[in-house]
Amino acid sequence: MSGRLATLRRGDAGYEAARRAACWNADLPDRFPDIIALAYDVQDVVAAVRMARARGWIIGVRSGGHSWPCNHIREGGMLLDVSRLDTMAIDPAAMRASVGPGCRGDAVNQALARRKLFFPVGHCQNVALGGYLLQGGYGWHSRTLGNACESVLAIDYVDAEGAVRHASAEENADIYWAARGSGPGFFGVVTRYHLSLYPRPPVIAARLAWYPIEHLEPVLRWLSAVGPAVPRSIELMALVSRKTDHVRGPGITLIAPVFADTWRQARADLAFMKSRPRGASLALPLLPVTVARMTRAVMRHYPRNAHYAVDNMWTHAPIDELVPAIRRIADSLPAAPSHMLWMNWQPPAERPAMAASLDDDIYIALYGVWQRPEDEAAARGWAQHHMAAMAPMATGIQLADENLGRRPAPFLAPDNMARLDALRARHDPEGRFHPYMGRV
Ligand SMILES: Cc1cc2nc3c(=O)[nH]c(=O)nc-3n(C[C@H](O)[C@H](O)[C@H](O)COP(=O)(O)OP(=O)(O)OC[C@H]3O[C@@H](n4cnc5c(N)ncnc54)[C@H](O)[C@@H]3O)c2cc1C
Repeated sequence: MSGRLATLRRGDAGYEAARRAACWNADLPDRFPDIIALAYDVQDVVAAVRMARARGWIIGVRSGGHSWPCNHIREGGMLLDVSRLDTMAIDPAAMRASVGPGCRGDAVNQALARRKLFFPVGHCQNVALGGYLLQGGYGWHSRTLGNACESVLAIDYVDAEGAVRHASAEENADIYWAARGSGPGFFGVVTRYHLSLYPRPPVIAARLAWYPIEHLEPVLRWLSAVGPAVPRSIELMALVSRKTDHVRGPGITLIAPVFADTWRQARADLAFMKSRPRGASLALPLLPVTVARMTRAVMRHYPRNAHYAVDNMWTHAPIDELVPAIRRIADSLPAAPSHMLWMNWQPPAERPAMAASLDDDIYIALYGVWQRPEDEAAARGWAQHHMAAMAPMATGIQLADENLGRRPAPFLAPDNMARLDALRARHDPEGRFHPYMGRV
């Protein structure tokens, strides 16, 4: 079907199924758009935006539906679903790709792997590039290649008046700036991304180690001590969960993926792992992996059809302050697959001009997950409670795991937020697109 915008009004047969399908999180909010519009091509998007203008509807846009709080599903107005705009074209000679917003990161990765090319797609299956790139994009190898949005060369979009436009560093440069980091506060509909590609690193490998939870403090102190010097080829992470492989009971999984030109370089970059604390129940030597395999492994912690309540923070707080707070997090961990993630980020000194602007040395995210009603009480408020308690240690949050509707927190540098507000006022004066669900 093409050029035939499908719409479902509240109360229509199929409306509730479409609303349900628009949200990956099983914790579907009690918010009901007046109309759900399913676009099949750019002309459908134009028609939908013009329809919304004529009726005075505010628009929420959905690509892959992976926004944890379901930012695109709001009360009233239009839910515009562009997930069917999912074609992909790769030009290996030019090292360029163009993708629809409904394209899934893992599908892009597989297509690029066949051509020995690379793009920093997200760590999980099924996340669409539509929302992922807008909010910054923390992907595989992003410590070297930057946030995925830094590799966006241009976008095609439909503006608040329903006009088809293009934005790049040369054309509609303000919109190009905003599209790289404004995430769920972008005021247009992206219909295509034009991406820069990279040669696939010849060596993709990882080291892993598993610790019983009794070793939490030494592991945290070690992560904090080695973090600043960890080579940018390595994305050092720790995952704390009640159910951990090779550990009886709660534990810590230490994950060190490396993207290198040679095995010699990979081993040299991972030399810091020799200093990791004793007491691991199992530690693996450096082993080759694929991005697809790592992604599948990550997905064990993010099952489908589960309810999620998520929150996060950036920090460079001293480890003496972080340890007691993280101990409280570990002590109150809901049942697996709920977990805490620690990611060693250590931002680069400089970044390109773009809206994305707030990060810090360490990223901590909490994922409260439940599949059975009896697990809800422990998991629902857990992430938000601990992140609120740790807010004095935080320098902001990442939009990838935002919880703005319930706990507003800074996510862009103040100057960038002010510039974004001014751009929104200029380009979307009638407020055709929903603003952030909350902000400080
Ligand atoms: C299991 C899981 C794993 C994740 N892993 C990562 C990760 O590794 N790295 C990372 O950075 N993030 C990660 N995320 C976060 C994810 O990148 C964001 O939630 C992102 O917004 C999802 O994109 P989407 O298109 O699937 O979501 P959607 O929910 O469709 O979009 C999110 C928001 O973006 C806006 N939007 C989406 N598409 C468009 C468009 N075409 N035009 C205009 N506005 C649009 C809307 O405001 C929408 O509410 C993960 C999320 C989940 C659920």
